[in-house]
Amino acid sequence: STKPDERLDVVVIGGGQAALATAYFLRRTGLRFVLLDAEDGPGGAWRHGWDSLRLFSPAVWSSIAGRPMPPVRHADGSDYPTRDDVLTYLADYERHYALPVQRPVWVDGVHAVANGLRVTAGARAWPARAVVSATGTWRHPFVPAYDGAQTYAGTQLHSAHYRSPQPFAGRRVLVVGGGNSGAQIHAELSQVADSTWVTPAPPAFLADEVDGRVLFARATERWKAQQEGRAIEQPVGGLGDIVMVPPVKAARARGVLHAVRPFARFVEDGVVWPDGRRERIDAVIWCTGFRPALDHLRRLGVVDADDRVAVAGTRSLAQPRLWLVGYGEWTGAASATLIGVTRTARSTVAEIAAALAP
Ligand code: FAD
Repeated sequence: STKPDERLDVVVIGGGQAALATAYFLRRTGLRFVLLDAEDGPGGAWRHGWDSLRLFSPAVWSSIAGRPMPPVRHADGSDYPTRDDVLTYLADYERHYALPVQRPVWVDGVHAVANGLRVTAGARAWPARAVVSATGTWRHPFVPAYDGAQTYAGTQLHSAHYRSPQPFAGRRVLVVGGGNSGAQIHAELSQVADSTWVTPAPPAFLADEVDGRVLFARATERWKAQQEGRAIEQPVGGLGDIVMVPPVKAARARGVLHAVRPFARFVEDGVVWPDGRRERIDAVIWCTGFRPALDHLRRLGVVDADDRVAVAGTRSLAQPRLWLVGYGEWTGAASATLIGVTRTARSTVAEIAAALAP
């Protein structure tokens, strides 16, 4: 492994799918690089997914560069991979390509120095000619502001830290959020708890036959149109809309897959609904998404008020030695998905290789 202070061409911060896909292309360039990841083992944010998590597309459509995930088939007949299928896949991927990942390394800063950048983790430092930030969003869960949230004495948990329904058995729970996390967590909680699903607008369910494959095909179409300066008409439905994976279909069949509009405010033992009705609530599960985890870039002065970095493609406009991969549409169409990140990882590495060429 590379020792700190040895001169590297590229430091990749992160060790999830975005970092691994980037590393896949870097190893073909001959550049000297290392991945620094805060986790204790492979898998990135998937290590923290809940126990029953289902992906929204079959294995080959949930794969990164070069090495597809082997097909899976579960007892219920479904071929959508689980959290553990992804963990096995990413661990094997790293091993297969012998990717130089150092763990656990919590990067706390990136600093501009003469002819390069300096990546730091406590007392350790890695000088590099280029840096790829691929830190995802899991470490930055987002919770919307609700009146009275401080007075509420019940349990509050973000989906980032939700593991299984058992701790909520027999309790009155609100699941807040209209995306796939909210749908899947409400679906399973409704079997053991008195679960109410709260969404700001009626949830957008995709047709039963639409899954990640279709969403990715649409994202690709949008990307091509954008490259060619064309306008296209597409059906509504984005990567955030709800895919009818088997547990969500089962909840629909049980008649529990409906949502109500948000409460007006919290009180100490629950919430008050817009019609003035007060209800005791034991726990609130926030399925309200994430923001990019970019604290390590703050001192570079490139992170704006929306927790984003101004980029052209994936390259920082203010700091030309910095690239960002995998955060969302703003770093490339579908780049925050397994199947989608390969495209931006490939173009990012091509740019880095060109920028560092003698
Ligand atoms: P991460 O997996 O978060 O990896 C980032 C890594 O960087 C982590 O290991 C983290 O510890 C590390 N890190 C962060 N900060 C630092 C630091 N300062 N120093 C060092 N290391 C750091 N996508 C699909 O394609 N299909 C799906 O079905 C699907 N389902 C999803 C379901 C849920 C509930 C969620 C939340 C996401 C889902 N996604 C899905 C989206 C996406 O694929 C994942 O969020 C994915 O984990 C993003 O990968 P990443 O590599 O960008 O980030």
